[in-house]
Amino acid sequence: MKIQSIIVLGGGSAGFTAAITLKRILPQMNVTILRSPEIGIIGVGEGTTPFFPSHFHQFLKLPMKEFYERAQPTWKLGIRFLWGQQEFFDYSFDQQFAKRTPGLAKNNGFYHEESPADWCLGAGLMERSKAFSRNERGTPEITLNTTAYHIENTKLVSYLEWQAAELGVIIQNETVEQVDREGEEITVLHLRSGGTIAADLYVDASGFASKLLGQTLNENFHDFSDTLFCDSAIIGPRQRQENEEIQPFTTAETMDHGWCWRIDHEHHINRGYVYASSFVSDEQAEAEFRQKNPLVQQTRLVRFRSGRYARSWVGNVIAVGNAAGFVEPLEATALMILCGQSRSLAEALVDSDAQPGPMLKNMYNRFMGERWDEIRDFLAIHYRFNNRLDTPFWQHCREKTPLHGAEEIYQFYRENGPSMLANAIFISPNDQFGAEGYLAMFLGMQVPYQKKHQPSEQERAILQQHKHLIAQQANRGASVSEALQVVRDPRWRWA
Ligand SMILES: Cc1cc2nc3c(=O)[nH]c(=O)nc-3n(C[C@H](O)[C@H](O)[C@H](O)COP(=O)(O)OP(=O)(O)OC[C@H]3O[C@@H](n4cnc5c(N)ncnc54)[C@H](O)[C@@H]3O)c2cc1C
Repeated sequence: MKIQSIIVLGGGSAGFTAAITLKRILPQMNVTILRSPEIGIIGVGEGTTPFFPSHFHQFLKLPMKEFYERAQPTWKLGIRFLWGQQEFFDYSFDQQFAKRTPGLAKNNGFYHEESPADWCLGAGLMERSKAFSRNERGTPEITLNTTAYHIENTKLVSYLEWQAAELGVIIQNETVEQVDREGEEITVLHLRSGGTIAADLYVDASGFASKLLGQTLNENFHDFSDTLFCDSAIIGPRQRQENEEIQPFTTAETMDHGWCWRIDHEHHINRGYVYASSFVSDEQAEAEFRQKNPLVQQTRLVRFRSGRYARSWVGNVIAVGNAAGFVEPLEATALMILCGQSRSLAEALVDSDAQPGPMLKNMYNRFMGERWDEIRDFLAIHYRFNNRLDTPFWQHCREKTPLHGAEEIYQFYRENGPSMLANAIFISPNDQFGAEGYLAMFLGMQVPYQKKHQPSEQERAILQQHKHLIAQQANRGASVSEALQVVRDPRWRWA
């Protein structure tokens, strides 16, 4: 049967992103969103990876002007980790360690101990709290190749709602109470308001409820709690202080029983403590959070379960966002993965002439399952090798975190150091973090390895020159506030 109509169940960032992507790529498709005003949205999810701007601006080519006016993002160049024994280290979205500076015998990672800073422009800018470099005329070079966003969740969702409506997506405020199925096919949704509604394909974007995939089709859930021990977050905003710069990066700070994010928006800063409730009570966690963040105002608690459904496309249901799986936001991957899900679904429908067969669904499920597992494995190394604190939680993480698919990557690193050869075999070309991500974390946490390289005098001189040029460019960089002024100037034109 050719799919002609799609119901998206859920109007959070996942539901709207899926609906926008489908309608943009398949304009003839009837796409309807059902979202429940009683249930509402999760209301968190504020840091992205560079895949998010690439999805909206390059793949979907949606107008930049409206995006900036409505979503009001600020820019994120990477993550600053207060992790391991160094005061901090920066994981930049630009390439630092998985490349070779011309003239060096080995790739940059082998020279990390010489001096960890200024390996690339992104890291140099992060170091100096700058967002963009400048051209010869002194104007900030606002390019988004290695840049992600910080966006307040409510502003993002309200932008998405506007954009969906503009594209012709029908949006209905309805709560789905009951679902009828025949085998693995959903046949009809029963609405609390009394009616029923049906479509050819159902996108389950109902958040943690996973109303269609989890609750109705009872798909198996692969629990990640053997690896990721955290299950709760306390979240609280604080006002930006006078003269406090807008940081162009997310901070991830080690806490006694987990870690705490800092995300800078234009007018306020959001902090959130992700912790393991098996190690600390909610009250103790809140006390530690407030003691380290005395300016935080009202807080709220969110519980979560880490893991993914075995298959996310079953029969005529395909789940996206939290309805398909969830991992804690240590690498801010949820918005990235839901963009990827939406894009892969749209491409699958285009290539199959909207008649997806069983092998296509198998391929999709395998591809998505691998992406979720890679995120779990990458996060596992963050926990296994963070030796900043000696609390029972962190001792447990160091002793008990299995590395799963990252075990070989780690063993290779331990034996060979920051060599790029691991890329060929141990790291999938589809891995979202790649060698750069692994090297940034291994080197930042100072995970020991055997094959050290002693740079020659000539190499030292090359390094010094390379870093001098980066530092010069970064020192002249433009701050987030300055770049915001530039893109808000009526004369500004997006490339
Ligand atoms: C503490 C925390 C921090 C996070 N930080 C980040 C981050 O920094 N970066 C990042 O990328 N991600 C982050 N995330 C994840 C991110 O918030 C979500 O993955 C993302 O917002 C997608 O949510 P969603 O749309 O799947 O679910 P939701 O926002 O929960 O939306 C679900 C929708 O389904 C509707 N619905 C549910 N049941 C029914 C029903 N029966 N009938 C009708 N409608 C229904 C709801 O009304 C709602 O509209 C974080 C998550 C948590 C918990």
